Formats: sequence, C-alpha cells, structure tokens
Amino acid sequence: MTTRVEVVVVGAGVVGLAVARALALAGREVVVIERHRLPGQETTSRNSGVIHSGLYYPQGSLKARLCVRGRDLLYEFCEARGIAHARCGKIIVAQEAQVPGLASLARKGQANGVTDLKLLTVDEVRRLEPAVRCAAGLWSPSTGIIDVHEYIGALQADIDAADGTVVYGTEVVHIEAVPHGFAVTVSSEGQVDTLASRVVVNSAGLHAIDLLRLLGGYPAGRLRTPHFAKGTYFVCNGVRPFTHLVYPMPNEAGLGVHATLDLGGATRFGPDVEWVDRVDYAVDASRAAGFYEAIREYWPSMPAGCLQPGYAGVRPKLVGEGAGAADFVIEGAESHGVAGLINLLGIESPGLTASLALAEEVAGRL
Ligand SMILES: Cc1cc2nc3c(=O)[nH]c(=O)nc-3n(C[C@H](O)[C@H](O)[C@H](O)COP(=O)(O)OP(=O)(O)OC[C@H]3O[C@@H](n4cnc5c(N)ncnc54)[C@H](O)[C@@H]3O)c2cc1C
Repeated sequence: MTTRVEVVVVGAGVVGLAVARALALAGREVVVIERHRLPGQETTSRNSGVIHSGLYYPQGSLKARLCVRGRDLLYEFCEARGIAHARCGKIIVAQEAQVPGLASLARKGQANGVTDLKLLTVDEVRRLEPAVRCAAGLWSPSTGIIDVHEYIGALQADIDAADGTVVYGTEVVHIEAVPHGFAVTVSSEGQVDTLASRVVVNSAGLHAIDLLRLLGGYPAGRLRTPHFAKGTYFVCNGVRPFTHLVYPMPNEAGLGVHATLDLGGATRFGPDVEWVDRVDYAVDASRAAGFYEAIREYWPSMPAGCLQPGYAGVRPKLVGEGAGAADFVIEGAESHGVAGLINLLGIESPGLTASLALAEEVAGRL
C-alpha cells in the first residue's frame, strides 16, 4: 500500500527535525523518516553543544549568515521554551606569533555581524581565566552552551503538536523520481513500504551523499565524494580549570582542541581532527598524548593523567584533507534538476547553532 504525504524529510537529527518543525508549523504535511529508534543519535549528539557566535566563517557564506541568524533564533527558542542553556562566553587565546591572526578574526566576526567581540590584553584574559597562558585574547560574549537533548525534544514536541509525524526505526532504502514527486521506499524490520511524496528533503547528515546514490533520477555527474573528519573528545577529571569556553586559534580543518563546559560546569577537551575513510565512533585512548601537548600551549599547569577518553563525532566534509573548508550546501532543482528535491550537504559545525535558520531557509524555498 502506498501512503501519500506532501513532504518526506530523511533524518531526525537536529537539522531534519528543525526543517520538519518549520514546515509543519507552516501547515505542510510532513513525515520524517529516521533509521534509529531515537532522534539525534548521530552527529547531533556527538558535538561540543556550543552555540557559536558566527565569527569564523567567510563573509557572505551560508555558514556566516545562518550561524548569526540561527544563534539569535536558538537563544530566543531556548528562553521561550525553558531549554537548559548558558550564554557563558568564550575566549579565543593567541600565542605570540598568532596575535595578528586574532585581530583579523575579530574583523571577520564584525563583518559577519558579530558586534560584541572585544580584543583582550593578557591581563584581561588572566582576570577572566587565571590558568590560561597566552599573549592576547578575543572575547565573544554571545557564545554559549545548550542541552541538545532538551532542544531536540522541544523540536519533536512542536512537530507532534502541528500534526507532523516522525517515524523511527525505519530506513529510506530507495527513492525514485516520478512525475510530480517521488516514490520513497522505506524498510522497517524487514517490512518494506512506499511513500508517495511531492517533496523530499535530504537531511541525512553523514549519509546524505549515500542517499543520493539510492535516488533513481539523480544525475550521476553531480554525485560528490563524501569525506569524513573524526573528532575525539577527552573529559577532564578531578579539576575544573575554566569558567568560560577557551579556544586556541582555529586551524584549517577545525577550531583547535578547545575546552568546553557542560551545563554542570565540567570541562571536556576536543575535538581533534583525524581524517577517516568511514564513520567510526571508537575512541582511541592513545590520542590523549596529542591532547596534552595541544592543551598545555594555553594551560601549562594541566595535571598529568587528568584526561579520560570521552566520545567521538564525525564531521561530514565536502572537501578532503588540505583542501580548505567548504560552505554548507543547500541545493534544489535549480542546481541538480530534480524537481521537489532539497539536499542539505556538508552540514558540519555550526549546524547545531544554525539549525533553526537552515530550517527557515528550506521552508522559504518550498
Ligand atoms: C565533532 C563535532 C563537533 C561539533 N560541534 C558543534 C558545536 O559545538 N556547535 C554547532 O553549532 N555545531 C557543531 N557541530 C555540527 C553539528 O553537530 C551538526 O551540524 C549537526 O548535528 C548536523 O545535524 P544533522 O541533522 O544534519 O545530522 P545528523 O545528526 O547526523 O542526523 C542525520 C540523521 O539522518 C539519519 N539517516 C541517514 N540516512 C538515513 C536513511 N537512509 N534513512 C533514515 N534515516 C537516515 C541518521 O540516522 C541521522 O539520525 C559539530 C560536529 C561535529 C562532528
């Protein structure tokens, strides 16, 4: 039997849920298909849980625009819905040779609309974080942290209240472009069904490009190669060195091994960058050596043995090692020619921060 729906969203990560919520609130008939039994089991629950201010990204990029807009929407949403979060602020710390880079980061942030950044002298950094060693700092007061599980719970509640549906434990195994829409084949515990939809939103995260390989009618010449950059975290046991987020200067593949806080005040470090061929969340305890070295650059009194293996996440990259950073890709028929298909590709950081703005963008396109 074929079920008819207006929109199928593939993936109940934070982005797929935010998109489904926006569409359901706009009166669209939406079904989200998620292969896991719970929402947010992949990248959504394997990140730093940071609400970024928007200072890192090239001016005019989707990342810059949607991070700044998404940050404001997310703080408003958290406040309106009582979602645990803290606008705790962050300091980016620069060593002597990095000080000129700090000023250009501040200019980049200002150009992106991050209007509250402040360059700090070494004494000002020490007043905020006495344990930090650096030559100068950049203070970003609108950076914060969020309880991601409470956030996705609130998105799901809004979808339910607006008569949207999220189907768990069900995988999209094939999509065929047909006249006026799609035949979406789903499989759950060996049972195969078909949904007929007018629109498909591909929000499958790390698997979004794999999903396009399953889409009959998608132009083969447009298929990209997925790249994966794993990030491991270690938790800091027995000591709470900082009361704000502390980041080193960013590097080409990521933001550097930084210190983030959870809402209880505990510190964790990460993520580092390890290019991998496949998605694998195992934590290699031997990576701690590289963490001690990187962290002691800015926290020289870090005690030996305080790091314990935490968890790992994998960044869905659109370009490989050494090729710089790609922007988010939101593409519709104007780029790939398949009417009714919207792809969300390369939704790495700041995708959590940008989720409500990504949703606004997709809803606007439909
Ligand atoms: C190490 C790391 C740290 C990060 N830190 C931050 C941060 O501090 N702040 C920030 O703003 N962003 C951060 N990010 C980015 C943020 O976590 C992601 O952008 C965001 O979680 C992406 O959400 P998503 O919904 O696109 O993907 P996902 O959460 O991966 O969801 C995709 C979903 O699609 C489902 N799916 C895939 N294929 C199928 C199929 N065929 N059928 C059914 N379901 C399918 C998957 O099971 C999955 O649940 C970080 C990312 C990483 C990797």
